[in-house]
Amino acid sequence: MPTTNVLLPHDIDLDKCIALNSSYTQARVDLAELPRLQESCVRIEGEVLADISFENDLNSMRLIHGHVVADVVLICQRCGNEYVEHLDLNFSLTPDLERAKAYNLESKYDFFDAADASKIDLYNLIEDGLILEIPTYPKHDEDSPECELAGSDWSYGEIEKSESDNPFAALAALKGQLKE
Ligand SMILES: [Zn+2]
Repeated sequence: MPTTNVLLPHDIDLDKCIALNSSYTQARVDLAELPRLQESCVRIEGEVLADISFENDLNSMRLIHGHVVADVVLICQRCGNEYVEHLDLNFSLTPDLERAKAYNLESKYDFFDAADASKIDLYNLIEDGLILEIPTYPKHDEDSPECELAGSDWSYGEIEKSESDNPFAALAALKGQLKE
């Protein structure tokens, strides 16, 4: 079946999108315009698809609602092999921090910086969100038969993980290596 997904626009005019009640369903995100996400993984597998809608809510906060899914190839920290991590990003963001402060609504919302609401970089928001969805310690699911250490030596992988968690431990290990 040929793909019919529209391409998600890079920049949007928030007020216009709200006024027109715009929305995007399963819109394709141009992978070439996600350079930071590309750098954060081995590669992006398949399409990145986004559902985006806009709202002026009951508090007159301008909101961008998004659901974005992406499959990225990462290196498993247990077995060292590539695996596919499914990223599932949901967000509701508003640029209206001052308004929220004035009405004591800060804790209700998540904010993003927008100097100019008529030109909001949608890709930047999506890219930030997807990068945050990437696990700090990428690894296969524990019961994955594809993970070569599965069932054999889990504790080894766990020790590696906690050591790399501590930069001083890593430094100490490096110094130890240099002495040898
Ligand atoms: Zn693995």
